Amino acid sequence: MDRIIRGTAADGTVRVMSAITTETVEEAIRRHATAPTASAALGRTLTGALLLASTLKDFDRLTLVIESDGPIGGIVAEADSQGNVRGYVKNPLADLPTKNGKFDVGGVVGKGMLYVIREEGFDVGFYREPYRGSSPLISGEIAEDIAYYLATSEQIPSAVILGVLLQNKEPFVKAAGGVMVQIMPGADEKTIETIEETIKKAPQLTNVINEGASVEDLIRLALGNLEFEILQERPVKFACNCSLERVISMISAMEKSEVEAMLKEDKGAKVTCGFCNETYELNEEDLMKILSNYK
Ligand SMILES: [Zn+2]
Repeated sequence: MDRIIRGTAADGTVRVMSAITTETVEEAIRRHATAPTASAALGRTLTGALLLASTLKDFDRLTLVIESDGPIGGIVAEADSQGNVRGYVKNPLADLPTKNGKFDVGGVVGKGMLYVIREEGFDVGFYREPYRGSSPLISGEIAEDIAYYLATSEQIPSAVILGVLLQNKEPFVKAAGGVMVQIMPGADEKTIETIEETIKKAPQLTNVINEGASVEDLIRLALGNLEFEILQERPVKFACNCSLERVISMISAMEKSEVEAMLKEDKGAKVTCGFCNETYELNEEDLMKILSNYK
């Protein structure tokens, strides 16, 4: 079972979060049938969004958007504080040869921008203007780009490690996960130095997950022997809020002439959710039922 935890260290001057997302990333790449490099890019982005969303309040959600000029075209991941995440890449077939034995995620992503959108009180009926931040991509490798975003757009010096380990048979994802450390105002130099040194010497994240590490063990990869306190632990899963009901209400909101055209020309409607690739099919009877509600 995938998990995410969030905690603090050094009297609250260090925030730390870690996640194991192996099954979540498997579900995402299976749904979108992504090529290996696109799978690694999507898996890293989903995990990054989950880590960023872990500090949100209960009904808030966060969307991480990458718009870029590489073969992948762009990536979107949306996560909430409950550990739910969904997302997609614009071109699932984007793939490149490995570079020094690693996925060339920077190559498929290319140059572009990273956007973070935070929405408050989503789904509980009040609306506030979403918070939006952005920064240019510095490598397209996702983890570095998120760390750069946090440092420049939110003034939070951070370290971000994200990893996806794939294999050529099912399950395609052997291990996936991430660790994020955020340095808050008042952190002392010695603590920062210790964290930097620990991360430099840390073994490969996905190997550690593959060997059965827990989310707490992942925090040790960044904090070493520094004491930390866990504030929250949650299960993580790929989850989409699309449904047949939502598709019906979406079609019901269209112009009557458009629905009539669907009925006449297509004898039904086929709607695919971009986030999870689920397809909903409506037959003639369904469309006639929708039409009967028009004045
Ligand atoms: Zn969906």
